[in-house]
Amino acid sequence: MEGKRRGYEWSHRESGFLTKIKEFTRVLLTDLTNGRSPLILIDRFRSYCAVPNANCFCASDLPYGKEALTLRTKSRAHRLVVMLRVMLIVQKLLQENKHSSKRDIYYTYPSLFLDQSVVDQAINDICILMQCSRHNLNVVSAGNGLTMGWIRFSEGERKFDCISSPNSVHPVPVHVEEVKVFQRLANDQFCNVNHCIVITGRGYPDIPTRRFLRLLVENLRLPVYCLVDCDPYGFDILTTYRFGSMQMAYDTKHLRVPEIRWLGAFPSDSERYFVPKQCILPLTAEDKRKVEAMLLRCYLQREVPQWRLELKLMLQKGVKFEIEALSAHALSFLSDSYIPSKIDHKLIM
Ligand SMILES: [Zn+2]
Repeated sequence: MEGKRRGYEWSHRESGFLTKIKEFTRVLLTDLTNGRSPLILIDRFRSYCAVPNANCFCASDLPYGKEALTLRTKSRAHRLVVMLRVMLIVQKLLQENKHSSKRDIYYTYPSLFLDQSVVDQAINDICILMQCSRHNLNVVSAGNGLTMGWIRFSEGERKFDCISSPNSVHPVPVHVEEVKVFQRLANDQFCNVNHCIVITGRGYPDIPTRRFLRLLVENLRLPVYCLVDCDPYGFDILTTYRFGSMQMAYDTKHLRVPEIRWLGAFPSDSERYFVPKQCILPLTAEDKRKVEAMLLRCYLQREVPQWRLELKLMLQKGVKFEIEALSAHALSFLSDSYIPSKIDHKLIM
């Protein structure tokens, strides 16, 4: 029964989006048949701006402006035509209960779409108009992420469960930046020892990996920690999980994980954990530019000033190091000492 009720809810929601698409095209057709040029206003969103301490609305789910699509200029008209074409494909997907990737959609009319980014923008525009996320439109993508640990997916109920023994502590998802570190933790039986779940997005996390993590945190109400390299890219990955990316600012509210805590590696960890000198590298000119630009992001000062202080320290010291540098003294240092002691002693941010 549970499955059937759920199925009804799902199809009910999908028909809601179909109704919205029909209503949208009906208004557009009415305008055209009455000789009026249609005007479509699309809210604009952004994850952050570069005005620290400003009273901005970044990442607060409020749009900061509107963009107008009309038939008056060629480029805007093309964008509207593309959006309608993509909408037609989405309508078909929803009606037939099928799924498609953004890439598949691009290949349906490559001569019209010209570039993948044009399709991506159309999907983003439709999501804003329909006030939904991409997966609501049955547009999906295969993720690059990997996961291991105490988790089970029940297909019938479409939900995740923790698998834990009666004596275990609560499973803790830990995100790690790199596959090398993920493999190290797997070799050390880290999940079995700590009854936890470990995820890697293999560098910058893609949408499915971020959505998966968000679902885990939402459904299982677990604490979540992020372990990244101590360099500007590691820090940027951490902020992508917590605040979203600038490019996908609208989808951010469905993807961000505000609960995520920074486990390491902090610039201040190099002294605390005696990282050998030869493992510490100087920041390049590009690294420095990236850090300086990140320091301006409005959400850092507003929401995680302690993260910002560590980022400032990275710039002051002018150095970076990889997570693996922490293991220079012992192969299993991350699994045996670093991660457990950081969580136990609350050396997290
Ligand atoms: Zn802002």
